[in-house]
Amino acid sequence: MADHWIKCFIGLGSNLENPVTQVATALLELERLDRCRNLIHSSLYRSDPVGPPGQPDYINAVASLETSLQPLELLDAMQAIEQQHQRVRIQHWGPRTLDLDLLLFGDQLINNDRLTVPHPYLQERNFVLFPLAEIAPNLSIPAGKTLPEYLKSCNTGTLEQI
Ligand code: ATP
Ligand code: MG
Ligand code: MG
Repeated sequence: MADHWIKCFIGLGSNLENPVTQVATALLELERLDRCRNLIHSSLYRSDPVGPPGQPDYINAVASLETSLQPLELLDAMQAIEQQHQRVRIQHWGPRTLDLDLLLFGDQLINNDRLTVPHPYLQERNFVLFPLAEIAPNLSIPAGKTLPEYLKSCNTGTLEQI
């Protein structure tokens, strides 16, 4: 049977050990994944940290790619990339060298122990919505609203395109 390719969106974030390089390298690593093709990505953004105070600023971006992997296989591949970046989980929402979140997987709604898709905080995070709009301005969020509608009620805040 021919492979079935599904378009997905991935949010990238880093606030440790040269975040710009961490994100740029992760984009290359995602591009090279088996059974993934046609990666495109937004520009990079600087954002204020979410979670415990006193963390360095974040660098964020959003990428899309087509994959013939199953959602959990893609999550495994994304977590392997996080591990390659020496990500250590010390604190919930604490500083990290690399965070890769699966934002959307086609129009699928996924809810299991390891994966909630669409990503639960997608619609309220300016560092996700603005980069997403660069690469998919008219996107509809499955079981939700359209990206332009979410953007209307989302503050740019101190988010900066770099
Ligand atoms: P947030 O989800 O608020 O952005 P986080 O990215 O800091 O928080 P992590 O520590 O990276 O959270 O991930 C914790 C767990 O979340 C992972 O082990 C993973 O199984 C689970 N998870 C659930 N849904 C997703 C998703 N859509 N993308 C990535 N991980 C997810
Ligand atoms: Mg995250
Ligand atoms: Mg994460």
